[in-house]
Amino acid sequence: MRYFDLHCDTLTEALRLHLNLDNNSLQVSFADAKNIEQYYQLFAVFIPDTLRGPNALSYFLQCAQAFTDEIFASPNAGFFKDKNARCHAMLSVEGGSACGGTLEGLSLLRQNGVQVMTLTWNGDNEIASGCFSESDRGFTDFGREAVRTMRQLGMIPDISHLSKKSFSQLIDFDDGVLIATHSNYDDLTDNPYGRARNLSPFQAKEIVARGGLIGLNFCPDFLSDTSAAGYDDIMRHIDAFLSIGAERSLAFGGDFDGCQPVAEVCSLSRIPALYQALLARGLSRELAERIFWRNAFDFFSHIGTI
Ligand SMILES: [Zn+2]
Repeated sequence: MRYFDLHCDTLTEALRLHLNLDNNSLQVSFADAKNIEQYYQLFAVFIPDTLRGPNALSYFLQCAQAFTDEIFASPNAGFFKDKNARCHAMLSVEGGSACGGTLEGLSLLRQNGVQVMTLTWNGDNEIASGCFSESDRGFTDFGREAVRTMRQLGMIPDISHLSKKSFSQLIDFDDGVLIATHSNYDDLTDNPYGRARNLSPFQAKEIVARGGLIGLNFCPDFLSDTSAAGYDDIMRHIDAFLSIGAERSLAFGGDFDGCQPVAEVCSLSRIPALYQALLARGLSRELAERIFWRNAFDFFSHIGTI
């Protein structure tokens, strides 16, 4: 089976712990993909809400350089366009403050290979308010300008972590394609984390109508209100998204190394077992292939990334 994952925090975790991406004790390593025929992964540079302005941009640049060095050195992985690789890696950003609050910073992100960037993490930044912002002021003037510039640069706004208010403003002033790299279906959870981070049916339908992607997250709080979430809950979220017509938008964004995932999908090595478990729960092979790989592959092929 093939697997395409829209979000993990492995890169910044590996750098923090002085580990490499090939073989490590984290939830994602290229060694863990040995039973996956073709593996595509967006590696996010996670920018904490404590980093802003030039400090955030220089941290991003440091991580981007380390990422490039890692992929060039890896015997198992290449970049998205590398036809000979079995494991494919691309840089993304979690937290729009990576641009340092300037449009020139955005251009630098793009020059470093970033095409997908969450506009916020949980709090406020120079662009907009995130899903746990106390003020929830929505977009700043700079944020609106930043989204227009992202479109000109060929970057796609990732709306995971964005506040509901910021989302409503975004779809009013911007009509381009959107991605939610790691968010589940809101109506299936009733805990504060799920409520804040998951997509409402309205948001999910807007992403689908714009031809975007939604990555399912393996974090227990976003799947269920019990601590024993697993395959059945992942299937419930898939069914909910399919019921609003997301069969060409649905993908995975497991959030590996950004959360403690459900025990049944505790690392990348468990993905082939997840594939079998979902088939056993009635998911057709055609839909499984779409969700595990094809939808995201087609999307990035269409915009010229692959
Ligand atoms: Zn996240």
